[in-house]
Amino acid sequence: MKIHALQTGTVRVKDRFLHPSPGRRRQLDLLLPGAWSEPLPIHCWAIEHGGTLLLIDTGETATARDVPFARFDVTVEQELPGALARAGLSLADVSEVVLTHHHGDHVDGVVHVSAPVRVNDVELQFAGTAASRVTRGLLRQPLPRGFAPEPLVLDDGPFGAFSRSRALSDDGRILAVATPGHTPGHISVICIDDEGRHVMLAGDVSDTLEQLHARRADAVGPDPAVHVATLETILAHCTEHATVYLPSHDPGSAARLRESTIVNQPPERTPMHAVVVNLTITDPRAAGRALHEQLVPRVSQAPGFVTGYWTAKGNTALSMSMFETEEAANRMREQAAAGVPAGVVLDGIEVREVVAHA
Ligand SMILES: [Zn+2]
Ligand SMILES: [Zn+2]
Repeated sequence: MKIHALQTGTVRVKDRFLHPSPGRRRQLDLLLPGAWSEPLPIHCWAIEHGGTLLLIDTGETATARDVPFARFDVTVEQELPGALARAGLSLADVSEVVLTHHHGDHVDGVVHVSAPVRVNDVELQFAGTAASRVTRGLLRQPLPRGFAPEPLVLDDGPFGAFSRSRALSDDGRILAVATPGHTPGHISVICIDDEGRHVMLAGDVSDTLEQLHARRADAVGPDPAVHVATLETILAHCTEHATVYLPSHDPGSAARLRESTIVNQPPERTPMHAVVVNLTITDPRAAGRALHEQLVPRVSQAPGFVTGYWTAKGNTALSMSMFETEEAANRMREQAAAGVPAGVVLDGIEVREVVAHA
C-alpha cells in the first residue's frame, strides 16, 4: 500500500477558528475582524492498493471564494490534476473517490473527476437540509457543478473504538469510520499500512494534532458535545492501535505520513521522589546565610524541582525537597553531597519515593 499526500494550495483561517470563543460567541466571532493564521495546507490523499487508486477528498480549486473566516490561495496548477501529476499519478487511473464531508475545500476538485464519487449518507442528508443550503448561499459556497455522489452507508459495524464503519477495499485494509462533529456526517478513512499501523486520513475532524490532544471542539460544528465525543473516540482508538493521525489542514500531516509518526500517549505518571537531608548546625549565622542565599535558590532552580521544606530544631536541621522524577532527585542528592555549605555538618542524605501527599 502506498499513500500519497496531495496538496491543492493553502488556506488561512481566523485564529478564532482554531481557538474558538466559548459559548454563544463561538460562531459569531468568526464573522468579526480578528487575527489570521499562517497559510495551512489543503490536503487530499491518494491510496495505491491492490491495483486500485482511491482518492480521499479532491481538494480546492482556483475559483474558491473567500469567506469571513477563511482565505484561499489556490492556483490552477495546484488543483487536483497537477497535484496528482506531482505525485507521479494520473486522473485517468483513479478508481473511486470518497469524500470526508461536503465542504468546498474537500469537494470542489470533483469537477476534474470522472470516477465514481461516494459521500456518507448522513452527510448527504445534512447537505440537503434547508439550514445547510442557506449557509452555503450566505457564504457563496455552492456545491461544485455536477456534484452527484452515491451514498456511502457505514453498515459494517464497529471498528476499533469507532461504532460505525464500512470497508472501502476488498481486503478490508481501507475503511471509512464515522467521525461526526465538524459536520454531522463527517467520516475519516483508516488505512492499515504494510506494517499494521492505522493511517487515519482525518479530514476536518480537527485542524491539528494539538486540537485532538486538547479535545477542543471547533467553531463551525453544529454540536460541540458530539465533536468532543469523537475526539475522545479517536484518542481511545490510538491507545489500542498504533495510529498515524493526518488532518487535512495540519502543517505537520505530510511529515507524519512520511515518517510514520504515531500518536503519542500521555506519558505514564512517575512517582515524585524526595531528597531528604539531615544536618547538624555548627554556626547558626553562617548556616542561615547559606540557606537563604545559596541553598534555597539553587535547589528551587534545579530541573524537576516541585517543592521543598527546610526545618530546624535546636542545632539540627532537616530538609525535604520534592522532585518530579527519581532521576532528578538523584542528581540533586549528588550535588548536595558535593557542596556542603559553611556552618553545617552533613549527617545523612537519601532519596525516597513519595508514596502520598496532600
Ligand atoms: Zn470542513
Ligand atoms: Zn477543510
